[in-house]
Amino acid sequence: MSESRRLYEEAQRVLVGGVNSPVRAAIKPYPFFVREGKGPYLFTVDGNRLIDYVLGYGPLILGHAPEPVTRRVMDYVSRGWLYGVPTEIEVLLAKKIADHFPSIRRIRFVNSGGEAVSTAIRLARGYTKRKKILKFEGCYHGAVDYVLVKAGSAAAHFGVPLSAGVPEDVAKLTLVARYNDLDSVERVMRSEGNDVAAIIVEPIMANYGVIPPKDGFLRGLREIADRYGALLILDEVVTGYRIGLGGAQRYYGVSADITTLGKIIGGGFPVGAVGARDEIMDLLSPRGPVFNAGTFNGHPISMVAGLATIEVLETTNAYENAINTSRRLAEGFNDIFSRLDIDHVVNWAPTMLQVFFTKGEVVDHETASKSNTKLYLRLHEELLKRGVFIAPSQFEAMFTSSSHTNGIIEETLRQVEDSAKALR
Ligand SMILES: *Cc1c(COP(=O)(O)O)cnc(C)c1O
Repeated sequence: MSESRRLYEEAQRVLVGGVNSPVRAAIKPYPFFVREGKGPYLFTVDGNRLIDYVLGYGPLILGHAPEPVTRRVMDYVSRGWLYGVPTEIEVLLAKKIADHFPSIRRIRFVNSGGEAVSTAIRLARGYTKRKKILKFEGCYHGAVDYVLVKAGSAAAHFGVPLSAGVPEDVAKLTLVARYNDLDSVERVMRSEGNDVAAIIVEPIMANYGVIPPKDGFLRGLREIADRYGALLILDEVVTGYRIGLGGAQRYYGVSADITTLGKIIGGGFPVGAVGARDEIMDLLSPRGPVFNAGTFNGHPISMVAGLATIEVLETTNAYENAINTSRRLAEGFNDIFSRLDIDHVVNWAPTMLQVFFTKGEVVDHETASKSNTKLYLRLHEELLKRGVFIAPSQFEAMFTSSSHTNGIIEETLRQVEDSAKALR
């Protein structure tokens, strides 16, 4: 019996489904257990080396254990790591983010993307004194009651678009529109717009595969939100620092009222952040009446790892590498499946991509759902046998890091070709 299998059997006795986050159980027949990560590789307890395109579901844009981050964390940890009073490192990271995001003048650091979203929604409600929010079918914003309605990611993979335990009274405050379809937004807003506190959106959908916004979609949302006096929350938990400094809002030239961040800004340690202009942020405790607090908020190790990561992104060609390799990977997937005459669509955004086995384009939850998710799972399995780890769910993304060299991409594409042949 493999060591992973033995550990998984033990894990199932004490952890729900043997895991602490559902997508990890999607690897069949059992998830591999990891011993170590270095650069683009994971090393399993069974002695296998895998090229990693999951990267902790997005945060590790420099790959595993990059030297500059490791060094700063090691240095810091010797000073203790939790004080219950402010540290300089929180200020430095906040200043850095405010430099890169003109829409963010003040920040509150929390411990996860989901917490950031729940705080952002509370702030939007406090600011507008309205109750409802509008989200998009297939967008995922964390394991938070208000946004677990028609959600993507593991909620889509395991078929729980509306989570049990979310009271109907809560769910009915969440309105749902269709991504990349401004008419659907306009329809909802025409009837309920005056009760809507915020429109919340992933500027690039990254939890239903990868689905970029069509030209004008985000600017259209900005205009509709303004017209109805609602706030626009851009959930940049994935895209912030992944598609570049300044996130999707800079890339697409659209400004947010409230931005949520997470993942990369903690350098792989737990983190979340809410940012906005002063007038909105000053409503938050201790300045204002909208409550937020957290024992671990602004945790020094997350702050130092995030700051070290962002400094590498600012001063090296890390983005250029990660973007080029993601593009090369997307082209390679396209070439291979075209040559083998397998219907497919590859959606790409800087440093992220996903392949869908379908005809036509993938622009929203519905077109994504038409794809052959079983074939995607088989691709994942075939690749895993050949030393390449892509997410075990169609409704996640593939990510590249600055540690994925051209050679690693070529090696990956050879395995993709062999895997694709095995699919027929
Ligand atoms: C991952 C993610 C979240 C949730 O972040 P957690 O740290 O897992 O709570 C929220 N929004 C988006 C867009 C995400 O991708």
